This record gives sequence, C-alpha cells and structure tokens, in this order.
Amino acid sequence: MTFKDLGLAEPILKALETEGYTQPTPIQGQAIPILLKGKDLLGVAQTGTGKTAAFGIPILHHLYTSPNNQKGRKRIKALVVTPTRELAIQIGESFTAYGKHTGLKNTVIFGGVKQGKQVDILRNGIDILIATPGRLLDLMNQGFISLRDVEYAVLDEADQMLDMGFIHDIKKIIAKLPANRQSLFFSATMPKAIVELSRSILGDFEQVTI
Ligand code: AMP
Repeated sequence: MTFKDLGLAEPILKALETEGYTQPTPIQGQAIPILLKGKDLLGVAQTGTGKTAAFGIPILHHLYTSPNNQKGRKRIKALVVTPTRELAIQIGESFTAYGKHTGLKNTVIFGGVKQGKQVDILRNGIDILIATPGRLLDLMNQGFISLRDVEYAVLDEADQMLDMGFIHDIKKIIAKLPANRQSLFFSATMPKAIVELSRSILGDFEQVTI
C-alpha cells in the first residue's frame, strides 16, 4: 500500500515524498482509513511506530479539503494534547513538515516558559494547536484559547499523562470540547483507568493495536 492509495490530497503527498516516506507504517496503514471515514480511534501504540503521522496526516487532509478552509479568520480546529514539552515540539514539527504545502498553521504551547509569545501567536490565528495540559488549561482560563471550533481532538500518550497526574486537567479540557467532534486517543498501555478515560472521550470508535 502507498500513501497515494489512501486518497490523500496532493499537497500532503508531495510533503510526504519530501520527507522520504515511501509507504505507510502498520499503524498508519490501519489508522488513516478509519480516520478518513470520520470515525473515532483508539490507538494502542508506542512512540516510534509512526503514530504522529497516523493522526497528523488525516487531520491535515480533512482541514485542507474542508470547504471552510481559508475562509475567514483562522480558528483552532484541531487540538493535540500531549504530556511533555519535548513531545509537543516534535508533534508540531511533524505537522509543519506534513502540512508545508497546505497553508495550514500550527503552534505549540507548553509550561515552564513565559506565555507572552505563545499568546501573540494564538492571537494571530492558527488551525492546529499542540499543547501540554497545564499550560493549555491556564490559557483557556485566562480567555486566550477557546475550544469552541475544535473538530479533531487528539489525546496522545494518555497513560503517561495519567502517571504525571494530569487526569483532572484532562477532564476539564475534555469538558470544554464541542460534542460534535472526531476524537483520537493514543496510549502505549491500557490499564483500567485509561480504558475508563478512553470511554469517556470516544464515541463510536475503532481500535488499532500495534
Ligand atoms: P513517531 O512514532 O510518530 O514518533 O515516528 C517515529 C519516526 O518515524 C519519526 O522519525 C518519523 O519521521 C518516522 N516516520 C513516520 N512515518 C514514517 C513512514 N511512513 N516512513 C518513514 N518514516 C516514518
């Protein structure tokens, strides 16, 4: 199977070619068709499997091909929540690489640094936000971020977020998401608390285990 067989938009295929991705990894081959159909996804997979592209590519494809793309001011239409600054930065770099011919903009926010620059970028308008939970909630509470227009919500490394004590923050963030959205939930392990969390977020979902 090739990325072309998946029916992805030309600007994304071009970027993947530049990246040197010749064929989808197993999680990409399984997850991308599910996500292109509009279904929710539970992905049981570790970092290193290509899971960032597994969720990033269909989100970029949807936003790029949406009739609303490029109309009016940019609003946050996709949200990725991930436990650490390092992961957030990596995911942001991946969206930038895969989306470089789409005109879609992303930014990354995380704690431990002053918020001023992050707020300025948010004010200018972005399509895709990658965030760690604490800073996201903080900027939401200050009124700098609204999740009202989010169509795609990704919870990445859910088990790690639970271990780091982010469960309450996550629940508060989820509560602010529009009901009409596509939800993606990734975890390397599925202990009981994570299964329960996934059920509270996902609607009608399909599971991919790598
Ligand atoms: P991830 O699991 O998302 O952290 O990705 C692990 C590494 O695999 C990253 O360096 C990606 O750039 C790379 N990668 C992801 N998908 C592909 C692919 N289809 N072909 C080649 N490399 C890939």
